[in-house]
Parts: sequence; structure tokens; C-alpha cells
Amino acid sequence: AYDVLILGGGPAGAAAAVYAARKGIRTGLLAERFGGQVLDTMAIENFISVPHTEGPKFAAALEQHVRGYGVDIINLQRATGITPAAAPGGLMSVQLASGAALQTKSLILSPGARWRQMNVPGEDEYRNKGVAYCPHCDGPLFKGKRVAVIGGGNSGVEAAIDLAGIVAHVTLIEFDAQLRADAVLQRKLASLANATVITSALSTEVHGDGSKVIGLSYKDRVSEAMHRLDLDGIFVQIGLVPNTEWLKGTVALSPRGEIEIDARGETSVPGVFAAGDATTVPYKQIVIAAGDGAKAALSAFDYLIRLAPA
Ligand code: FAD
Repeated sequence: AYDVLILGGGPAGAAAAVYAARKGIRTGLLAERFGGQVLDTMAIENFISVPHTEGPKFAAALEQHVRGYGVDIINLQRATGITPAAAPGGLMSVQLASGAALQTKSLILSPGARWRQMNVPGEDEYRNKGVAYCPHCDGPLFKGKRVAVIGGGNSGVEAAIDLAGIVAHVTLIEFDAQLRADAVLQRKLASLANATVITSALSTEVHGDGSKVIGLSYKDRVSEAMHRLDLDGIFVQIGLVPNTEWLKGTVALSPRGEIEIDARGETSVPGVFAAGDATTVPYKQIVIAAGDGAKAALSAFDYLIRLAPA
């Protein structure tokens, strides 16, 4: 059995693994895809002390750092459920899709999240070539350009306000007849000279020139007329979905499916900790996920040293 088993090989899980292994405890890391979301990222320019790197390079560095500590990495395996300890301080187990199970004294959950996609033609083809999901990450790449934000909830309107300070013009596109964001955000957006809001609009296609985005088509849901916008970038802000479906009924989840944690990364189950995009911690970023992964590992170590001697 492991002292600590980490579920997830993104920045949160990798940081947790390094911090746990440095305590000299038996550490395992299980991941469906070591590296996580950064594998799908091109430029990373906001990880402090690293002015510029690329996602796959960053993921390789995460893995190298973790392997350097002799962590037992179980890659390309998906967890399907957890069984908490029968008695306080006992072993818990993690079930895998392969049918196997892993035993551990403590567990750190860092399964991350995925951006909800529009699922329209061109979106996949131009991902990272104008189609973006993270304004904090990719906003500066569109300095002085024309962009659209898809989605009029809080994250979409926040993104549009944020981007308006960087880009030449931002068009916010909402499917419904009205925006769903807080009134104060809507007022702020309405006050910006370089922002336009289009409601009752269904995005239908991302257009590109073969190498980058050049526009977006949408249907006016009232008149049924088709329209096309000339754009350099499209920020899709229709939801970030935590990868926690398989945890329902074990650890407490928020109404949005995020793992509820306290300031120490503790979940509702003793001995189970969590970190990163899958949790209730706001602002989903690499540096935040990594910091919280370190914190969860230190909390797991605190938990382990308080267990009765075996
Ligand atoms: P993830 O990176 O999502 O990793 C989750 C891990 O858990 C993966 O290894 C996954 O395979 C594994 N996993 C999930 N479910 C299971 C399961 N059931 N069984 C086994 N393993 C499982 N942030 C920045 O700070 N700067 C940027 O420039 C930036 N750019 C981005 C660009 C894109 C296109 C995207 C999508 C995100 C970007 N982000 C950026 C956000 C950043 O990638 C995330 O905040 C960060 O990766 C979260 O780390 P995490 O460890 O919580 O989760």
C-alpha cells in the first residue's frame, strides 16, 4: 500500500508528488494522461520565473521532476471510484477501469477539469490557433486585435471586460435573449466603448485561413438570419467542467461538481485531500494548482504522522 496516492498528473498532482516524496513516504501517482491540460496548451507565459515555455515541454519537465524522486507513476490508467477506509485511519482503495485496485493510507485528488466546447466546425481545428479558453492565459496574445467571447455568464462577461483592456474590440455572444452575468458586470461591460454584446445568437462555425482563425458565423435565433464576424480570436466561456463525475457519493462536491476543500486542502473524508482545477478554489491556473498540490501533500503528511503506529 502507498502512504499517499495522488490521483491526477497535471500541475497539482505533480507538485503534490514532489512534496510527498520529499518527506520520504511511499508515493504513487495515477494519471489517465500525465501532464493534464498543459499538454493541450501552446504558450505558457505566466508561470512565475518561467517567462515563456510550451505546454508539452512544461509537461515533460513536470514528469522529469516527479520521476527524479522515485515516485511510482502509473500512467494511462483511469480511476473509476474510491472506497474510503472501513475504520478511521485504515486503508482506502481506488478502483481502476482496468479492474485493478490500489490501496493507500491517504489520497490526494487532482483530476482537473475540462472546458466545455461549442462543438461547431472549426473549433477543434483552430484550437490554440485563435480558439482559446483562458483569458488570463491567452488574452495578451490578442493585443490590438478583434476577438469574440462566447457565453454571457459571469465568466464570459468577466472575460470580455478583461479582454477589452487589451484587444482592439471584443464582441460578446450569448445564446439566450439576455446575459446571465451579475448586473454589476453587465453594467461595466455596457460602459466600455470597444465592447459589443450580441444576444440570441447561436455560434455555428469557426472560420480560418488554414493556419489561424479569421472569423465566426452565428445564427440570429429570432430572425434566423446568418451573420459572420471577422475576428482574430474566439474565447469560449461556456463552462469549466470538473472531472469528478466518478466521485459522486464519496467526497462532498459543490453544486457545480467541484470537490469541496478547506484552506488545508482537506475534503469531507478524513485522509482524502484535493487540489487544482477540480476543487472549489477559484481561478484555475497552473501556478495556483501547483501551489495547492504542494499544500495538499503537506496536509496529507500531517494526517499520516498522526495515525496510530501500525
Ligand atoms: P489538469 O491539468 O486538468 O490534470 C488533471 C490530471 O488528472 C490529468 O493527468 C488527467 O489525465 C488526470 N485524470 C483526470 N481524471 C482522471 C481519472 N478518473 N483517473 C485518472 N486520472 C485522471 N494555466 C495557466 O496558468 N497558464 C496558461 O497559459 C494556461 N493555458 C491554458 C491553455 C489551455 C488550452 C487550457 C485547456 C488550460 C490552460 N491553463 C493555463 C489552465 C491550466 O492548464 C490548469 O489550470 C491546470 O492544468 C490545472 O491543473 P490540475 O493539475 O488541477 O489539472
